[in-house]
Amino acid sequence: MSDNAPLVIIGTGLAGYNLAKEFRKLDAERPLMLISADDGRFYSKPLLSTGFAKGKEADELAMQDAEAMAEQLGAQVLTGQQVTAIDTRERLVRLGDRGLPYSDLVLATGAQVRTLPWREALGERLLSINDLADYGRFRAALNGRRSVLIVGAGLIGCEFANDLRLGGFEVTVVASDPWLMPQLLPEQAAAAVQAGLEELGVEFHLGCAIENMALEGDGLRVRLDSGVELVADQGLSAIGLVPRSELAEAAGLAAGRGVQVDRQLRTSDPHVYALGDCAEVAGLNLMYVMPLMTSARALAKTLSGTPTELSYPAMPIMVKTPACPLVVTPPLSGVAGSWQCDAEGRDVRARFVDANGQLHGFALTGAAVAEKLQLTRELPAWLG
Ligand SMILES: Cc1cc2nc3c(=O)[nH]c(=O)nc-3n(C[C@H](O)[C@H](O)[C@H](O)COP(=O)(O)OP(=O)(O)OC[C@H]3O[C@@H](n4cnc5c(N)ncnc54)[C@H](O)[C@@H]3O)c2cc1C
Repeated sequence: MSDNAPLVIIGTGLAGYNLAKEFRKLDAERPLMLISADDGRFYSKPLLSTGFAKGKEADELAMQDAEAMAEQLGAQVLTGQQVTAIDTRERLVRLGDRGLPYSDLVLATGAQVRTLPWREALGERLLSINDLADYGRFRAALNGRRSVLIVGAGLIGCEFANDLRLGGFEVTVVASDPWLMPQLLPEQAAAAVQAGLEELGVEFHLGCAIENMALEGDGLRVRLDSGVELVADQGLSAIGLVPRSELAEAAGLAAGRGVQVDRQLRTSDPHVYALGDCAEVAGLNLMYVMPLMTSARALAKTLSGTPTELSYPAMPIMVKTPACPLVVTPPLSGVAGSWQCDAEGRDVRARFVDANGQLHGFALTGAAVAEKLQLTRELPAWLG
């Protein structure tokens, strides 16, 4: 254990890099090290589901490489290095046999994709996109192909459906969900988005489970429990994300839906913090950019000597389905209430209200997205 040891951040996604940037605004001196299993390029993950329409290669979405980031941040950035364990007693992160000391440690390890049982057997024909390297791999796999079958109708599946269609591919979406984005949207708002995507040419098979996926020729054959058989040149799995909390759990740190932290983003160990997709902050695991930016600013203050409690306002999510504009602020889980919808064609205003008429969430589609600011003002803070 050494107090000259650096502040170490595991992860160079938006959480890790934005924390490092915010921290450097407040403290230019303290040694800082970032460690990443990937190549450490700085990129905006939300842009991955807009890249096909724009015809962007992975390299074009990367904004800066690890070396440039290291220089800009006055930090050491270790790339291609998997942290395999954390020793909280000795304050070491382990990379296989190597142990690196830290003074404080921040977990910004993100979330990993859920996988379908056929993933291994289907190799490159069934991929997921959860980082820049995945995006590059998927683009390469699409070379010379026309049709994509997307499994999953959540936010990410729907964004890729829209984007791949705009990029000129035939797109079919298969999901066991009864309607699009059921964790975020009531049925009426989802129907508007579905209609917009269908008009664009996306085909949907909802409410059905996949019985089998197999290679056929150079593509895929998929059998649904409805009896329908589908073929496609390429598969994209988008069935959800799970916070990466194994390192924390193996080190004896508290974890639930993610690495559990308090409102100072501190884990059950006083020298270990977490933010971003991997973190469950005061019970909330919110896998979006705005919460992680808010967290980065608060944690930078704490780490530079001013202990700071995090507050979250309610933060609307702009879903990137231009076929039907959509903005949603989901009610926090556990809030009792119901959706009230009114619609004019594709313009749906859905409000989630409790028994006292207090607004707790909303979904707006089409022209109704213009009401975003006004409704956001009526929402209680997520963490007041
Ligand atoms: C296609 C797509 C579109 C999205 N669109 C939006 C949007 O429009 N708006 C929005 O708010 N959110 C959006 N999101 C969510 C948003 O992108 C994420 O919330 C955010 O990028 C998460 O950042 P992160 O830094 O926490 O995690 P990640 O970006 O996953 O970074 C994790 C980092 O940890 C590293 N790492 C993990 N384990 C280890 C280890 N053991 N050792 C070393 N390094 C490790 C990884 O290499 C990586 O560098 C989207 C997500 C996707 C996938």
